[in-house]
Amino acid sequence: MTNEEFRKYAHELVDWMADYMDNVEDYPVLPDVKPGDILKTLADKPPQEGESFDKIFKDFKEQIMPGMTHWESPNFMAYFPANKSYPSILGEMLMSTLGAQCMIWLTSPAAAELEEHVMNWMRDILGLPDSFTGVIQDTASTATLCALLTAREKYSNFKINERGFENERFTIYTSEQIHSSIDKAVKIAGIGESSLRKVPVDDAFAMRADALESTILEDIKHGYQPICVVSAIGTTSTTAIDPIKTISDICIKYKLWHHVDAAYAGIALALPEMRWMAEGVQLADSFVTNPHKWMFTNFDCTAYFVKDPVNLVNTFSITPDYLKTSVDHEVKNYRDWGVPLGRRFRALKLWFVIREIGVNGIREKLQKHIDLGKWLSIQVNKHNKFELLAPVVLNTVCFRYINSEIPDLDVFNEKIMNTVNKTGQLFFTQTKLKGRFSLRLAFGNTNLEQKHVENAWKLIQEKALELEQDYTT
Ligand SMILES: *Cc1c(COP(=O)(O)O)cnc(C)c1O
Repeated sequence: MTNEEFRKYAHELVDWMADYMDNVEDYPVLPDVKPGDILKTLADKPPQEGESFDKIFKDFKEQIMPGMTHWESPNFMAYFPANKSYPSILGEMLMSTLGAQCMIWLTSPAAAELEEHVMNWMRDILGLPDSFTGVIQDTASTATLCALLTAREKYSNFKINERGFENERFTIYTSEQIHSSIDKAVKIAGIGESSLRKVPVDDAFAMRADALESTILEDIKHGYQPICVVSAIGTTSTTAIDPIKTISDICIKYKLWHHVDAAYAGIALALPEMRWMAEGVQLADSFVTNPHKWMFTNFDCTAYFVKDPVNLVNTFSITPDYLKTSVDHEVKNYRDWGVPLGRRFRALKLWFVIREIGVNGIREKLQKHIDLGKWLSIQVNKHNKFELLAPVVLNTVCFRYINSEIPDLDVFNEKIMNTVNKTGQLFFTQTKLKGRFSLRLAFGNTNLEQKHVENAWKLIQEKALELEQDYTT
């Protein structure tokens, strides 16, 4: 491709991109494909000679697009969103044009300094304490792994990095409702799944601090060494809020690392009236939240904050001769702040987003999403054939259909979900709460409006009624 051709195609693609975003609601949210459908349309062998970009782009539209799930549709209410915005896409475009690999300060001084700067902005936006220092990671999973590795090193006096495990009997604590990334991190960190204690939760699905303390005491009695508690501001199932302050106090009492997983809901701390969720966070050792979920920033972009960067850097630093520079003592070399050496220039898109939308603009969107959660929870409560299965703290609503004439409500609710999702008009997912199948809708999409939530609620009721008639006739 020549520079002239690049210019021509780039313009063409930008037009396509703007049209796509304008019309994203016209696509079925979930594609109507079976496993292997897309694969069988693709050419068996790579081309020996280069192909024209016209042809490639045509194939993208005809072969790839039909198999895409439309995450950016406001009718996507599954999982948690991976929302984006125009300034974020523009940031990604520049980032990929510069193609910088930002492993150390010297490999792009502006990237390192902007990262430090936007992380300070993030800290202020979320009302986190000044004593926290931020670094961008690819995902919350990686940030949580960093937290566990740092805790592991701190409590082994940095010996496990040196000689591996000897006879440490470390234990880690989290709640039954925690995200699977914690299970994964204890495996990767070499601590082992059997050393992860899942503390019971209360009726609101938040960790029971009394049970945490008794589990810790029990372990100490049996010769284990507790090292870390992972709490949640916003669990994945229901956005339950663990009692951060009480957990911090327990961590201080027993000298444990406290990592706060606020991957999704942490962004809501931008709203001063939601800061009660993080009361006591200044006592924690680390905190993670994802601008790539609910802050209009393209995947991937995770904000990881630590109280003491020295422990983090001591855990990860490597300085082979070929990476040494004369300014190492004056700058942040972010390769030492996480797992990978190579790093993308993620700070750029986050800077664009914060500046273009503004803190008030971000707050308005978050508030709207929270209001929509409240609105649906009121509708569900008013309806005699639906019930909420968890408190609605933010913008995630867990509920189910109920009818005493239907023998298996789990099967029936799953049917409702599958039938609705098959229409292509809406896509949402499920969770299991106290053993019961729950419909689960999350409202974080950038362009979500009241009408989308009203349509979703109407569609769910309609399909429930249709399916109910199958049962009762
Ligand atoms: C989504 C989520 C994660 C994982 O986030 P990634 O960035 O995809 O790794 C972890 N914890 C919670 C509570 C989440 O909601």
